[in-house]
Amino acid sequence: MRMGYGKTQIIGEVKWQGYVWYYLPNHPLSNNTGWVKRSKVVMEGIIGRYLTPEEIVDHKNLVKDDDRPENLRLFPNRAEHDRFHTTERCPGFKEGNIPHNVKKGGR
Ligand SMILES: [Zn+2]
Repeated sequence: MRMGYGKTQIIGEVKWQGYVWYYLPNHPLSNNTGWVKRSKVVMEGIIGRYLTPEEIVDHKNLVKDDDRPENLRLFPNRAEHDRFHTTERCPGFKEGNIPHNVKKGGR
């Protein structure tokens, strides 16, 4: 997997695909180059355990690098996440709008 972080290189913290990533090669959810989304690490701090691979950390305001605890919410899996965004429970939901997760590759 290519990281492409040359522009904003800080040792141990990069911005990539809109997300902020930490270099944590020993983290159970780090990718094959050793990086974990900061949103996951922040959520783990809130719940006091590691996330499972199925769990989804979502940004309430859809700003992918806004990892403040109050901007994050946790879903047990992708199906629950997708269901949330296709109902009025989602604050940004409007009839006829395409939820942010429907777009291919988005979430
Ligand atoms: Zn979402």
